[in-house]
Amino acid sequence: MQFPSTILITNLSNEINFVKPLTQLGISKLLLFYSRSASKNNTYSKILGIIKKVKLPIIYECSLPKQPNQDFLNKLTTNNINFFQGQRIGVLSIGGGSTIDSAKAIIYFAKEYFSSNTKTKNFFIPPLIAVPTTAGTGSEVTRFAVIREKDGGQRVLQTPYLIPKIAIINGSFQETVPPDIKAYAALDALSHSIETFLSPKANFISCSISMSAASLIIHFIQEHCSFYDISVAQQMAEAATLAGIANQLVGCSIIHAMAYAISEQLEIRHGLAIAVCLPVVLQHIERKSPPSYQHFVTHFSSIKNFPEFIIKTINILPIDTTFFQRLKHLDLDSAVKRTISIKRLSTNVPIKCDTSEVYIMYEEIIKLWTK
Ligand SMILES: [Zn+2]
Repeated sequence: MQFPSTILITNLSNEINFVKPLTQLGISKLLLFYSRSASKNNTYSKILGIIKKVKLPIIYECSLPKQPNQDFLNKLTTNNINFFQGQRIGVLSIGGGSTIDSAKAIIYFAKEYFSSNTKTKNFFIPPLIAVPTTAGTGSEVTRFAVIREKDGGQRVLQTPYLIPKIAIINGSFQETVPPDIKAYAALDALSHSIETFLSPKANFISCSISMSAASLIIHFIQEHCSFYDISVAQQMAEAATLAGIANQLVGCSIIHAMAYAISEQLEIRHGLAIAVCLPVVLQHIERKSPPSYQHFVTHFSSIKNFPEFIIKTINILPIDTTFFQRLKHLDLDSAVKRTISIKRLSTNVPIKCDTSEVYIMYEEIIKLWTK
């Protein structure tokens, strides 16, 4: 499927499936960035086997730490800038959302470097091949990359050339992912699917994609986080990519803006911050009952109260509930300010959310999860 990434959901042992898309990239060498956990399971060797068979030499490889910050990634790029000059290279990234976003940031910083050094002209934007090992961010099909700043803040890079040219989706890549990491990733993907469905920018194409993703995730999330089953993992991997496509089409909402403020202040995982915001924002939307929300819940007629259902689902997933008490330390004024400042997200909702409403939602989040 081509959207604008070529999405390969295919038999990994048949290299023929990969020859044409990889050849069409017009590259002769690869730089490889991967997460340490991906290198410990089969994903790494499976992908490297494919790359070897299609005769693309890897001229540099680097294992990335968890959540590397902007300075680290910028330095890594400039230390290796010669690789980017005068040759048609590609970037291969194997790992969770943070690893794929880091690879995007490296491409972004390399382009910035060559744009500011007018003497060095020979730069071709390297195409990115993304191999997600979690069913979560959907970064493998979006123009977005979220990276950490030195002070704990988060910077969102977004530009069309960051959309991976190829995404390789396979449930088997999740075989060794711990249950809590699966849960955070799945809740993030669930939120992408709901947020994009409710977006004022949504259209019939994005809504169909969002709904397919939401239905799959709601159906499989518990099983997925309880044990490893290849067919469940495959469905979840595909659902997360679908939710990523919807995100690329219409963008996420105020839930993401609020979650950014929480994870920046309290240093917690993106998926967990999303999980605490999702049901409370949905309750607010439900009270005003806009047509898109009515349309959404009609699809889940067996679920009587959708926000309550989300709360119950979160409570039975294998997540770190000790974090919830940390919410008591949230500085509400700065969280509200930060939320409103991310206009792209805070205004992408089917109801009006002004400062006082965002404040009330944060209070409700704290009340709900710290009782
Ligand atoms: Zn997200």
